[in-house]
Amino acid sequence: MAPSYQYWHPEMETLSRPELEAHQLRQLKRMVSNASRTEFYRPRLLEAGIRGEADIRSLADLKRLPFTTKHDLRASFPYGMLCIPLEEVIRLHASSGTTGTPTTIYFNREDIRRWTGFVARSIYSTGCNKTDVFQNMITYGLFTGGLGFHAGGEEVGMLVIPSGSGNTTRQFKFMQDFGTTVVHATPSFLLHVEAKMREEGVNRESIRLKRAFAGAEPYSEDTRRRIEELLRIDVYNSYGLSEMNGPGVAFECQAKNGLHIWEDGYIAEIVHPETLEPVRDGEVGELVLTILCREAMPLLRYRTRDLSAFYTEPCPCGRTHRRLRRITGRTDDMLIINGVNLFPSQIEEVIMAVKEVGNNYLIVVEKEGVLDRLTIKIEVGPTIFMDDTRPLNALRERIRKTLQAAITINARVELLEPGSLPVSEGKATRVLDSRPRDV
Ligand code: AMP
Ligand code: ZN
Repeated sequence: MAPSYQYWHPEMETLSRPELEAHQLRQLKRMVSNASRTEFYRPRLLEAGIRGEADIRSLADLKRLPFTTKHDLRASFPYGMLCIPLEEVIRLHASSGTTGTPTTIYFNREDIRRWTGFVARSIYSTGCNKTDVFQNMITYGLFTGGLGFHAGGEEVGMLVIPSGSGNTTRQFKFMQDFGTTVVHATPSFLLHVEAKMREEGVNRESIRLKRAFAGAEPYSEDTRRRIEELLRIDVYNSYGLSEMNGPGVAFECQAKNGLHIWEDGYIAEIVHPETLEPVRDGEVGELVLTILCREAMPLLRYRTRDLSAFYTEPCPCGRTHRRLRRITGRTDDMLIINGVNLFPSQIEEVIMAVKEVGNNYLIVVEKEGVLDRLTIKIEVGPTIFMDDTRPLNALRERIRKTLQAAITINARVELLEPGSLPVSEGKATRVLDSRPRDV
């Protein structure tokens, strides 16, 4: 599709660097002043020598602020970081608990309005507008992806179908009945939808789908390409986390080359996960975010654990907000297999590039004696016959060798029939690690 670089908030999306930074400084002062009124931040800011916003003179003072972690959020549960009276709060959301127990975020009316603006801006940057019919195929509820995208879609003026996740047969029916042009889902659910479409013999010509927003979990460029080719749509990467409101933190524009992080709403840093020092532009590190667009609950220098890098060269779309490289994983999803560090995304990159491979896979790690054993269970695509052992063995061997070259680990590869692995309606579980943990 030919890109149309139109802006939802033209003045904000194209601010010059000095203007953007002046805006960030103004908002940062406000956030620090809010934070110094909370039970959680007050002592920590004092310890860092910051009594209030007057101590924040330039953006360089950001470095003086303490980091915040998921552990801090849990420790201050339920209201330790709230900085407005409870009667001003109109909504809460919680993290889906990607790792461990959920954490809660609060919003006042203005916070919801501003969040919705960022989601609308993101949606619009992919070329959608009020003529679109948007089917939000993601979990509604405490998870921010449901209501967040729902409100953003309405703000753009699209017809929003709150279909929620799951029930693929009904999803096809909605697509056909209402002429859905754009969907939002996890990448793994999109792959499942495609497989089901083939299985149920849904005619591609009977649906008008053009685009999808895919996020909430990491996926590789190959997975994106695969979904785009199979479904014949454009897929845009959507990044967000409940701690930073939810979706609408960073989003791909039609250039599809990195995600613009909306810097008028968030200050992004990328740091080395151990030294916590900034890495050079282009280098991978942990994304640290400070929210500038929420009054109810500040979060300063929040360690997301997500791994990314900055792209600093200008984007052809003309937006001035820096871009993030697609998030490849989290510092805490790193596996150590017999001493070798490995991210699940490295495996996905290899297997999704093999065209005979189907749409689902599972990484299994077990202890075998004293050693770790890595098995990759992979569903094959519809063109492969499971009874034909020779080509099957050749395929298995080819995947095993490519994997070994890429990850330096000799993994066992198991090929399975399409549809044999469990499908998740929310974030996919890609790793089953049954090794006993050291406590
Ligand atoms: P939640 O707070 O439940 O919305 O989960 C947020 C987490 O989901 C993030 O910190 C990331 O680890 C992950 N996530 C969300 N969007 C993406 C994306 N586009 N790519 C990779 N990971 C993502
Ligand atoms: Zn762009």
